[in-house]
Amino acid sequence: MAAGKPVVILGVFVADTAYRADRQPRMGETILGNSFKLGPGGKGSNQAVAAGKLGADTTFLTRLGVDAFADMAKRTWQDAGVRSAVIDTPDSYTGAAYIFVEEGSGNNAIIVSPGAAMLISPADIEANAALIRGAGVFVTQLEQPIDAAMRALEIARGAGVTTILNPAPAAKLPDRIYTLCDYLTPNETETEELTGLKVSSVDEARVAAGKLLEKGVGTVIVTLGDKGALLHSKGRSEHVAAISAGPVVETTGAGDAFNGGFAAALSRGVEPLQAVRFACAVAGISVTRPGTAPSMPTLQEVEALLA
Ligand code: ADP
Repeated sequence: MAAGKPVVILGVFVADTAYRADRQPRMGETILGNSFKLGPGGKGSNQAVAAGKLGADTTFLTRLGVDAFADMAKRTWQDAGVRSAVIDTPDSYTGAAYIFVEEGSGNNAIIVSPGAAMLISPADIEANAALIRGAGVFVTQLEQPIDAAMRALEIARGAGVTTILNPAPAAKLPDRIYTLCDYLTPNETETEELTGLKVSSVDEARVAAGKLLEKGVGTVIVTLGDKGALLHSKGRSEHVAAISAGPVVETTGAGDAFNGGFAAALSRGVEPLQAVRFACAVAGISVTRPGTAPSMPTLQEVEALLA
């Protein structure tokens, strides 16, 4: 596959700091942990790494602090072949997540402090309008302020760029945003949040997707975990089964792998249903490996799985 048209992704990077311990400390108490792991996170950044590793011409637009975690972000993108359009924000800090994992149960408790990324504004988007207009595919999520996401989708749409909104984390959306989306890619929980309907099967996803189409989305793609994904547009509704690449190790970031893979395929002119299949293969490989950004596969690995 050739590199295709540029993919521009607006979103958030956070440094994931994961502590494993037998239990959480009580207020005022200090306990010893069993292990610590630092890794790159943030939905937008993970999606950019996925697209970049697949060989797509990818640029990630965000704000970072001027600190050690910013260096880590830039190194992560460089290793994945992702270009960055970073607005340095020295009076804030690069986002970080405290992830407590309970030994044994694997349950977690998380604090996310998004830092500089919370300051991404419509004015930032205006300043990067040429970048967005020059894309073939534009992708964003809901981790940064929604007015910035909305402005970026408007600019992309106005320039005929294919737009993808991954509505994660789950939130209620203003009506207008739906009309700016060529593709909306919620998972089951997000689909429930957006529609108020229960979604735990392909048939229920189809009903809910129909409701989202009525709001003005071009094509709804509901990701269904180990049940794959549903592509639903006017006159076309197709279920694509999940693609297994081996035993499942960690599903965190599966949605990010899917979105990055889907954007990469569309940017190469792959038709939507085949792009969903490609995205299922990308996500199918990512869940067989630990971590989020580090679990994203290369194009060769995906092509070998699909061959
Ligand atoms: P999120 O990570 O946002 O919750 P999903 O759980 O819907 O998203 O997963 C996104 C995609 O990842 C699915 O559409 C599917 O292709 C793939 N996937 C998720 N879980 C598995 C699994 N256990 N086996 C194979 N593929 C999976």
